[in-house]
Amino acid sequence: MSQVISAGADQELTFTAFKVRVLLVDDQLLVVEAVRRMLADQPDIEFHFVTDALQAMDCALRLQPSVILQDLVMPNADGFDLIRHYRGTEKLMHVPVIVLSAKEEPKLKAHGFAVGANDYLVKLPDKLELLARVRYHSGAYISRLQRDEAFRFLRESQKNLADANIELQKLAALDSLTGIANRRRFDETMHLEWQRGQRQRRPLSLLLCDIDCFKLYNDSFGHLAGDLCLKKAAAVLTACLKRPTDLAARYGGEEFAIVLPDTDAAGARKVAEQCLRQLEEIGMEHPQSPHKVVTMSIGIATVVPTAEVAERDMIDSADRALYVAKNDGRNRAVSVAEIE
Ligand code: GH3
Ligand code: MG
Ligand code: MG
Repeated sequence: MSQVISAGADQELTFTAFKVRVLLVDDQLLVVEAVRRMLADQPDIEFHFVTDALQAMDCALRLQPSVILQDLVMPNADGFDLIRHYRGTEKLMHVPVIVLSAKEEPKLKAHGFAVGANDYLVKLPDKLELLARVRYHSGAYISRLQRDEAFRFLRESQKNLADANIELQKLAALDSLTGIANRRRFDETMHLEWQRGQRQRRPLSLLLCDIDCFKLYNDSFGHLAGDLCLKKAAAVLTACLKRPTDLAARYGGEEFAIVLPDTDAAGARKVAEQCLRQLEEIGMEHPQSPHKVVTMSIGIATVVPTAEVAERDMIDSADRALYVAKNDGRNRAVSVAEIE
C-alpha cells in the first residue's frame, strides 16, 4: 500500500504506508490460535503465522513483517538459530524479534538478547501486554523504514538536482538564438586562455566578426529572416574551427568572437580567411550589400599575454582592426599588426 504526498507543483512523492504485520513462528496450533484471538479485534494489525520452522525464513522474507514472535523449542529447528539467521539476512536483519518462550528463565532471556532478539515474553502473555509490545516494536521498526525511505528519496532528489544544475550551467553558457557559446562564456574563456597563454608564454588570437550591412538585411527580409541568417553564420563559424580548445561565441547583436588559444598570427589569419570564404560560399542572398550575398568583416588580434598587457586591450585592438576592415570595403579580415 502506498500514500501520495504532494511535494510541489509538478512533483508527487510516493511514500509507502507501512502496516503493523505480525508473524508468529510457533509449532503449536494452540498458541497460534490464542495469539490470533488476542490480535483479532485490532483492525490495524495484520496477523500471519507459520508452524513449520523450516519455512520460517521464506515466510518472513516474503511477508516482511514489522515484528516476529518467535518460539524457542520447535521440531526441526532451534528458535535461537532462527533468530541468528534473521540477523544474518539483509532483508530481515532489523526486523524486531520477540521471543515467545515457555520458560521464565534469566539465562534463556539473556541468551535470546545475545543472539539478537529485542524482547522476551513468556507464553501465554497477557493480551494488553502483547499488544503493547507488538505496537512498540513495530512502531520503532516502521519509523526506521520511513527514515530509510526518506533518506533514499533525499539522495535521489539531490542527484536529480545535481543533474539539473549541470544542465542549467550548460544552458547558461549558450546563446539562445544560435546555440553557440554566449558572451558570458566568451568572457570566461577569454580570461582563462589569457592566463594560460601568460603561464605558457604562448600566443593567443582573437577574431571579432561582424556581419556586413546587417541592418539592411533586416530591413529587406524582416527580423525573423535576420535571426535565421545569424544562426547560419554561427554554424559556419563553428564548422571552421578544428581544435577542441577553439571557441566561437555570439559577442552581441550580429557580432561573433572567436578565441584561438595557442595560435599565432598566421594561424589566426588562416581561420579568418576560411570563415570569410565559407560564409560567402553558402550564398545567403543580400541584394543591398555590395557583395550581393551575406558577408562579414573580421578584426584579428594576436598577442603573447603578459602581466604588462591588459586583456581588455586585446579586445579593443581587434575591434579597431574590425573597424578598418569595414572602412576598407567589408568582407575582409584585417589584423592589428597591419594597422599599427
Ligand atoms: P556594418 O556592415 O557596418 O556592420 O553594418 P550593419 O548594418 O551590420 O551594422 P549596424 O550596427 O548598423 O546594425 C546592426 C544590425 O543588426 C542592427 C540590428 O537590428 C541587427 N541585429 C542585432 N541583433 C540582432 C538579432 O538578434 N536578430 C536580428 N534579426 N537582427 C539583429
Ligand atoms: Mg555591429
Ligand atoms: Mg554589422
